[in-house]
Amino acid sequence: WWKDVPLGPPDVILGIYEAHKVDPNPNKVDLTVGAYRCENGKPYVLKTVLQAEQNIVDKQLDKEYNDIGSEYFREVTYRLAVGEELCDRPHVSVQSISGSGSIKIAAEVIKRLYKGNQLVFIPNPSWVYHAPMFELSGVNTAFYRYYDERSHYIDHSGLMTDLTYMPDNSIVLFQMVGHNPTASDPSPEQWREMSRILKNKNVLVFFDMAYQGFGSGCTETDAYAVRHFIKEGHKVVFAQSYSKNLGMYSVRVGAATFMVDGKDDGQPILDQMKHLAMCSYGQPPIHGSQVVEEIFRDKNLQKSWHEELHMMVDRIKKMRELLTMKLKAIGSSHDWSHIMKQQGMFFFSGLSVEQCEKLINDHSIYVVKNGRMAIPGINEKNVDYVAQCLHQVTK
Ligand code: PMP
Repeated sequence: WWKDVPLGPPDVILGIYEAHKVDPNPNKVDLTVGAYRCENGKPYVLKTVLQAEQNIVDKQLDKEYNDIGSEYFREVTYRLAVGEELCDRPHVSVQSISGSGSIKIAAEVIKRLYKGNQLVFIPNPSWVYHAPMFELSGVNTAFYRYYDERSHYIDHSGLMTDLTYMPDNSIVLFQMVGHNPTASDPSPEQWREMSRILKNKNVLVFFDMAYQGFGSGCTETDAYAVRHFIKEGHKVVFAQSYSKNLGMYSVRVGAATFMVDGKDDGQPILDQMKHLAMCSYGQPPIHGSQVVEEIFRDKNLQKSWHEELHMMVDRIKKMRELLTMKLKAIGSSHDWSHIMKQQGMFFFSGLSVEQCEKLINDHSIYVVKNGRMAIPGINEKNVDYVAQCLHQVTK
């Protein structure tokens, strides 16, 4: 029965990460996985989360079935995205399995209910799972120009041109902040221009908000794009995740939200989402949503969360500065200005596959072969080594 089944597509990042784990070189550096690391190279569990977990134990909260997430969880999560000003806009949300599950459940809803053009435009390049998630849900995919390899930044004219020619009633996917893998986010002016271009096209605008807070360090500032598009009257869908901004990568907590025209429009969509969720994974895990609720219920925990988020983003910025300085100090004449120009978890270096392979094979610096490096893997202890090796492979 199961003969001749081809292998599944390899996960390019995890494969390199696994190779890093078994490398005996004491100088090895892992810059593959998009997860925060402390100065000591170790994963970081937020103190805020630990305190919230303690509260859950102290209160002996139950672990009953979680339906589509509690009303309170869904409300505060929605507010985190849209802010106070838009909190009364009609919408429907379900708690889901972090960003990935939220994108997938939204894609399934779109496939079944969206009466427009079943074609989603994805930035080129984007997170590797965006296109397959939509394709597997039965929504066709195409790419729009996003990134300019020469400037290592947004391809402004390519992006605006492709939005201009996007067919009416289609779907466009934007990464709201901390773009993976390019680390290049549109400025507020660019978002406004993008909104103006799409305004009369009746396009469904899908925001992947996986890194809210990891761009500027402030969840409010980072939410500019989704709020602007809602204010401008676009049809908006968004997927949220607490994996990165609360460091709850494997706790799997997030939400999928559809903005709707009126409260009556929402109920059938909510019912369908609930049904799709029940038929795929049942109900979402409660632990992460209880953590989120504890944090939002307590002003002090909210404050400490935002401080820790700031601390993480500040360390990433510091590492960008330090790496740039070290490269200059050792005399690299390569253009490294994009280390500082880009933001979020990553540095999209522009190094070729061969240069990346050299970093991995000759220097035990593990990077994704498209040139993406996770900045949190850099710290004061290994930054000299990283700079020297980057210099070596770009001489
Ligand atoms: N979107 C983007 C752009 C991502 O980079 C990731 C994680 N790498 C996700 C969504 C999904 O992450 P999670 O399911 O942990 O929220």
